Amino acid sequence: MTTKGHEGSWVTIDVGYVDPQRRSCALCGRPLARRIWRENVEGHMREFCEPAHVALYRDYWLPLYGAGAATASSEPRLPT
Ligand SMILES: [Zn+2]
Repeated sequence: MTTKGHEGSWVTIDVGYVDPQRRSCALCGRPLARRIWRENVEGHMREFCEPAHVALYRDYWLPLYGAGAATASSEPRLPT
C-alpha cells in the first residue's frame, strides 16, 4: 500500500501567469487559489486545496471511484 503521510508539496502559482486550465481541488472541486497542494496519488499528480483533502481523496474517493475517475485534471489511464 501507499505510505501514509504527506509526500506532496505546496506549489505557489505565479500571479502573473494565466493558467489556461481551470484548476480545482481533485476532491472537493473548489477552485484553487495561488497556493495549491500537489501530491502524487496512485501515480497521478493531483492538486488539492489543502493536504487534508489528500487523505480524504485516498480514503473515500479512490475506493469508490478509483484513480481513473474523471476529475478536472484526469489523465488517460489504461485498464488493468
Ligand atoms: Zn479540496
